[in-house]
Amino acid sequence: MEVIKKLNEMQTRVSSIKERKETIGFVPTMGALHEGHISLMHNARDENDKLIVSIFVNPTQFDNGDDFKSYPRQLDKDIEIAESINVDIVFVPYAEELFKEGFCTYVLQTKLTEPLCGKFRPGHFKGVTTIMTKLFNIIKPDRAYLGQKDYQQNIVIKRLVRDLNMMIDIKVLPTVRDKDGLACSSRNRHLNPQERSNALCIYNSLLKAKSMYSSSIKDANKIIEEMTSIIKSEEYTRIDYVSIVNPNTLEDVSCINGKAVATVAVRVGDTRLIDNIILE
Ligand code: AMP
Repeated sequence: MEVIKKLNEMQTRVSSIKERKETIGFVPTMGALHEGHISLMHNARDENDKLIVSIFVNPTQFDNGDDFKSYPRQLDKDIEIAESINVDIVFVPYAEELFKEGFCTYVLQTKLTEPLCGKFRPGHFKGVTTIMTKLFNIIKPDRAYLGQKDYQQNIVIKRLVRDLNMMIDIKVLPTVRDKDGLACSSRNRHLNPQERSNALCIYNSLLKAKSMYSSSIKDANKIIEEMTSIIKSEEYTRIDYVSIVNPNTLEDVSCINGKAVATVAVRVGDTRLIDNIILE
């Protein structure tokens, strides 16, 4: 396995892979790898000749400097994990090389980036769409693998690829959870034991949504009310949003006809967690 940090080295390697007509599977991450990332890597490993994983804590997608500074980083351990999955290349770019002095070109997506997390994290999706465009340009993957946990991000990236005519197949894989249901997240390691236990209300609220929907309750507000009360009943939780949205447009729905997504963002102590479940 190669660990490549320099941009020109990465680009040279990609050119030689392309010359050999090998397919590239790409898993973009911010590191502190966990079972969610590992599942993406296994799938990508199975479906492509070459597997490239990027590890980059992208400063431009953090709307809060403290969150960026305290984001978990464990490069040596991540490299060991990647090696154990037979990743071909781990790309760990330098921020100074990706965002050279004078950098002033951003990719801005409207509409889909406005609701949900877009409301609470100004500038976040501009950072996401810009870094994803850059990484896609550098790595030129045939397929990119994303996790369902970041539902809005996936919709945004799929639209980015479609709107900018990138020839990349976006694969979204199910959310991997700890045994008790909490979605794996690099940020979980910021939770103290009390908060870790409180955070279970997030998944419980999603299960409640699913069971209400299964028993033919289609009134989104009714479901949101129940979800909200489950989350509020736990100490140290603060809701950013509890929403039920159209799976394609991310607009709020009032009556669920067909498929919808129940999606939440909750701060538990100082840690912001997101999760979702598809209602269909
Ligand atoms: P991150 O390192 O948090 O930026 O995530 C990198 C990729 O891993 C994104 O596509 C996430 O959606 C995905 N991911 C994060 N957590 C999970 C999870 N629990 N299950 C599946 N995929 C995940």
